[in-house]
Amino acid sequence: MPEHASQPFYMPSGNEIAVFEQCHANQLAVMLKGPTGCGKTRFVEHMAWRLGRPLVTVSCHDDLTASDLVGRFLIHHDHMAWQDGPLASAARQGAICYLDEVIEARQDTVVVLHSLTDHRRTLSLEKTGELIHADPGFQLVVSYNPGYQRMLKDMKPSTRQRFVALDFEFPPTDREIAIVLREGGTDTATAHALVTLAHKLRGLHDRGLVEVPSTRLLVATAKLIAGGIPLRQACYVGLVAPLSDDVSLAGAMRDLVDLTF
Ligand code: ADP
Repeated sequence: MPEHASQPFYMPSGNEIAVFEQCHANQLAVMLKGPTGCGKTRFVEHMAWRLGRPLVTVSCHDDLTASDLVGRFLIHHDHMAWQDGPLASAARQGAICYLDEVIEARQDTVVVLHSLTDHRRTLSLEKTGELIHADPGFQLVVSYNPGYQRMLKDMKPSTRQRFVALDFEFPPTDREIAIVLREGGTDTATAHALVTLAHKLRGLHDRGLVEVPSTRLLVATAKLIAGGIPLRQACYVGLVAPLSDDVSLAGAMRDLVDLTF
């Protein structure tokens, strides 16, 4: 059963839906690369719905162990019982397994993905001796933000080369306006102004703004506005303050807000 009863709204930027469908049909793992808040998770939710597959999502972090993914023995009443982790569970049930921010996971953890992403499509449960053969519908999807901690962390080539990679960017202007309208619930003029403002704020990247406003932040700000928060205040708290603690950068961003609204 798909996780979502109704279709998760996803506005495509190109032919990513067709590419993903081909990957699914050919049992190819997919890597989504792009800045935070640009629609990667929503895309996976939409594709799981479209393909009628359950979705198992794991948010990766640097304490994530192979056992967290594969499973472990847990005390159950008076005995130890094996509990599948999300990866094993997804492989058995033919789910799409989405590892968000996979770059955060340690390399020795990520290595457990290898046997599932090549011709073997197996997962070995060393502690029980079981070898899971992934259901034909199983698909692995990972995402990460290449701009973030690029120098500190990277994926091994032996891992990277197991994926088809789709590059995500913020949506084109007209589509981002449509997303803000639909998700944020403002009127068209406000959605238009918010996206124009976002483009200006994204331009501050060259002046040292490390994190630029994402579509997610625009949607959140639009929701505040639709809920009755005054325009400028909504932009200060929804767009400016989350992005930087630097006084001069925040000042420059507020100036751009004041010029827009
Ligand atoms: P990511 O996984 O890239 O960090 P998300 O998929 O969580 O980002 O997107 C954040 C929010 O932005 C979503 O909840 C949705 O409201 C909106 N969004 C971004 N891109 C799209 C899109 N292409 N179609 C629909 N909604 C989008």
